[in-house]
This record gives sequence, C-alpha cells and structure tokens, in this order.
Amino acid sequence: MNRTISTLALLLLSFCAFAQPSTIKALVGGTLIDGFGSDPIKNSVILIEGEKIKAVGHMDDTPIPPGAEIISTEGMSVLPGLWDMHVHTMINGHADYDYWDKTYPPLFREVIMPASAHQLLMAGVTSARDLGGPLEESIAVRDAINKGDIPGATLYVSGPFIQHKPYPGTEAFRWGVDSPEDGRKKVRQLARAGVDVIKVVDQDQMTLEEFRAVVDEAHKNNLKVVAHSHRPNEIRMGLTVGVDCFEHTGLSSAPRYPDDIMEMVRERTAQMNLGPLFWCPTVEGLYNYEYVRDNREKLDNDSWHLGLPDSVIADIQNSIKHPDRLPYFQLTPSRKPTLETKINQLLDAGVVLMVGTDSGIPMKFHSQSTWNELDVWVNEFGIDPMYAIRSATYWPALWMGVADAVGTITPGKYADIIAVDGDVLRYISLLQDVDLVIKHGKRYK
Ligand SMILES: [Zn+2]
Repeated sequence: MNRTISTLALLLLSFCAFAQPSTIKALVGGTLIDGFGSDPIKNSVILIEGEKIKAVGHMDDTPIPPGAEIISTEGMSVLPGLWDMHVHTMINGHADYDYWDKTYPPLFREVIMPASAHQLLMAGVTSARDLGGPLEESIAVRDAINKGDIPGATLYVSGPFIQHKPYPGTEAFRWGVDSPEDGRKKVRQLARAGVDVIKVVDQDQMTLEEFRAVVDEAHKNNLKVVAHSHRPNEIRMGLTVGVDCFEHTGLSSAPRYPDDIMEMVRERTAQMNLGPLFWCPTVEGLYNYEYVRDNREKLDNDSWHLGLPDSVIADIQNSIKHPDRLPYFQLTPSRKPTLETKINQLLDAGVVLMVGTDSGIPMKFHSQSTWNELDVWVNEFGIDPMYAIRSATYWPALWMGVADAVGTITPGKYADIIAVDGDVLRYISLLQDVDLVIKHGKRYK
C-alpha cells in the first residue's frame, strides 16, 4: 500500500515537473528599490531563474519569457530581503536568562534556533548575523538552512562570545580568554570550526594585549570582529585595536559620547583606506520598551509562536506577564532620551549605521524586531528611509563580504527579495507585514 502511494506521488511529481514549462518567475509591476540608493524603478520587472536573478528592468524594456510564472507586484514596494545584523537565535524573548540558560540548551539545535531563523525569514529577513551561541549548534543550524533542510534566514554565526570570563553557567556559549596566546588559540578553534565572524564582549575587562591578539588572529583567519560598545573603554579599546563593527549605542543613561571618543571616531572615519566604520546601534528594543509595556497587545501577536512548542510559548508568556517589573529594563526610561543624541553623534562623525536589533532579548521576538528598528530610525529619529533600507540590505552584505552574491537586486545575484503592499519610502512601518518573501529563488510567503 505504502509503495503504491509513493509510486503515485513520484509519478505525480514528475508530471508536475514536466507540466511546468519554465522555472522562470517574473515579479511584475511593483516599485523596485534595488538597494543601491537611487530613485526606485516604477513598473518594474524582475526575472528569477532558479536561485538567481536573471534580469531587472522596466515593463517596457524587459520582455517576460513565455511560460514564466507571473507574480504581480502591482502597487507594491519590492526590495532586497532585509538583513538583521544583530540577532540571538538561541533566545526567544524570555525574560529570565539564568533560567533559560539552565533549561533550554538541549532544545537549541532542534527547536529554538530553527524557530528563530524561521520567524526571521517570515518577517522578510533573509539574512542575519547571529552573535553569540553554542558552537556546534550554531554551525549545524546555519548549515541545515543553507542545505535547504529547514526554512530560515541565511545565518552568519559567531558561535561563542569571546570575553574575559564566562558568567557562571554560560560556558557552552561564552569562552573566556586569560592570555594573548589563549585568545589566539580560541579564535583559531572558532575559525577551524567554520564560524563567519568573531563576537567580543566585555573587552574592557581583558588586557589590551589579549584583545589585540584576538582581533589580530581573527583578521589573520579572514574573520571580522564585532564588539560591544556598552562602556566607554570598550569603545576606546575597540578603536585602538581595529574592531570591524561596534554594537549598541551603549553608555547606559549617560547623555552622550565623551569628546575624546568622538575624536577617536572621527580620526578613524577619516581614513578611507580602512573603509567605513560600521556600527549597529540596536535602539528599538530600548526605544520601544515603554510603549510595549503599556500596550501589551503587541506581545499577543502570535507571529513569534512559529516553530515553538506550546510549553515553551507558555513559559515565555509567563516570564513577560508583567513587563513593568522586568529588571532588564529598569534603567531603560532614562536611557531612551539619550539614544537619538548618540545616533546623531555617530552619523555626524561619518559612521555607517547598520540595522541590528538584539532580537531575542526579553519581549523582543524575531518575528517583529527588524521592522521596528527601521521604524524608530525613520519615524522617531528622522533618518532618511532610503538610508535605513540600505543599512538593512546593501551595507550588511558588503560588511559580510558577500556583496557579489546578495544585498541588492541585481542580475547574477541570489534572488533574496521581499515585497509589501504600498510605498515603504513613505510608510516604512509597512514592513511589519511583508506580503512576499523569496529567498534564493524560493517563495516562502
Ligand atoms: Zn546582543
């Protein structure tokens, strides 16, 4: 019986494949923002063949091959799949890290991390930098997605955080460094395992020699280094040893970056030979905290349940039952007013900002974080929407060293494309519910 069914299924499959005259998809009619930053193409056509973009143009000058599968993008904004340069797939919005780290590691590889990656994808995030997780699990989930075994955003993973000393109970995903040689050894170990990037935190607790050794060894292994900028000395040391990207606006509730740091930043951005100085300010979690606290309906949006068992969902819900009582956000109301000042200081100094969210932190779900970061930049801080979109497409791909394959809508690149009804340059928050998600030519939404 089983054999008959599978034979039938096979026949049906081969019939379908045969009946499909072409594998070309044509996205037709939408307003195309290609990621490079110039005026959008109205009434655009994108032809996708297999995993790649075959042609990009205007309806007048780009013929659609007969038999192509036509997907109307009429009335839509069409843009490259978004990137989120700061996510944590090993966490899912639960408010108690100690408890989470004790309870869920056995589920990371099969359940938690795949669910996070899938939620990102359905939110239009086709690529993400996953900054801090257990080594084997990070690599395994990334590879399973790349092989097409499970759906998810393409992940670029750091594996374990590199820091002075792991916090008790976090040794599986935080590696301590106690000498320059130890730092080099740990980085080589990560490089051999195949990570895409090195993540450093609390570097102000390392000696400068240890930190320098970590960064130098990473660069020798063709890996870029991402580092926290929570405390003034983390930034000073990071600029001194040549970190490739800073994370968070940092400096707690202090009103602005001190002059000496801004002087160092300007000194660095003035050196064109070093390329841009990149920074992921990750502001939305902090900026929107009070709003979420007072409008809890947002937390009931079930997009973040995707891929999670009921027991885990209930556990997370229970941990965030009282958003006003969470210690994680105690100081947030005092930090909030400083965010715009700090962002403007960085922009004025010539830093290139990238979109990253810290997605996965308490109450910040992978299904909802990324669009909120763009929304705060544009609608609260007055940043140009095209700048924000490029910070979530063009620049991240360039930073990651994969700009020849993704990041813009260009013939020859992978078809990582999203579309949403309406004009995102006028209403960036439309990105909260994308209508179409295509990754590597395959339609997921
Ligand atoms: Zn983070």
